[in-house]
Amino acid sequence: VLRLRGIRRAFGDHEVLRGIDLDVAAHEVVALVGASGSGKSTLLRTVNLLERIDDGVILLAGEDVSDPRTDADRVRGRIGVVFQAYNLFPHLSVLDNVTLASRLVHRIPRAEAERRALGLLGSIGLGDFARSFPDRLSGGQQQRAAIVRAIATDPELLLLDEVTSALDPELVGEVLELVRALAARGTTIVMATHEMAFARDVADRVVFLDAGRIIEDAPAREFFAAPREARSREFLSRFL
Ligand code: ATP
Ligand code: MG
Repeated sequence: VLRLRGIRRAFGDHEVLRGIDLDVAAHEVVALVGASGSGKSTLLRTVNLLERIDDGVILLAGEDVSDPRTDADRVRGRIGVVFQAYNLFPHLSVLDNVTLASRLVHRIPRAEAERRALGLLGSIGLGDFARSFPDRLSGGQQQRAAIVRAIATDPELLLLDEVTSALDPELVGEVLELVRALAARGTTIVMATHEMAFARDVADRVVFLDAGRIIEDAPAREFFAAPREARSREFLSRFL
């Protein structure tokens, strides 16, 4: 689904991504882990073409989307994205938030988009909030609505950037539960996370970034049970 080769990005003389090679197969769940500032968010933004790259190639389902002639909006229509917070448009109802891309980007008729959105919202217990505005929802409900919005168009790839890190601890579980359900359904996911227990449970693979380089890329079970690299061990020891 996704293939990155030699991705480089610098801000001024600060090299944030130093040659990233990464492959993500269909239905795979990849956890991006690493210290603050290691480049996780920059890498996710790069995939979604929100960040230009200095060098490298991004292939989405075999298509070179890093080509400057690529229509970025069309590519973003194929990728679902959820950030830490402020994902929903505050002036739109939850239902309008969820259906917006389906209607405007994918040209799905309103009635059909709403039927599907109501089904998705109902499946996560938010059916009663469909006509509410985001500020009436808890942080956890807002994040779950944002995730539903991101998958409403059946994207080829779902990017999650620390979707629980702005939440009160008691709201983290419900959001992780939804991600777990999507993973079980076969959604292809790349998620930056500081939730190591969750990464171990849900991710197929862990990619450990350190100062803009992939230090270790291993099956999740192996990464947590027996990290190969000294820097991975040092990183994990901070979570014990
Ligand atoms: P965190 O775990 O805190 O979310 P991260 O791994 O997501 O960290 P990034 O947000 O990708 O890290 O940032 C990597 C580095 O790039 C940081 O040093 C950051 O200051 C720098 N950086 C990111 N965006 C910009 C920007 N627009 N201009 C300048 N520097 C930036
Ligand atoms: Mg980040």
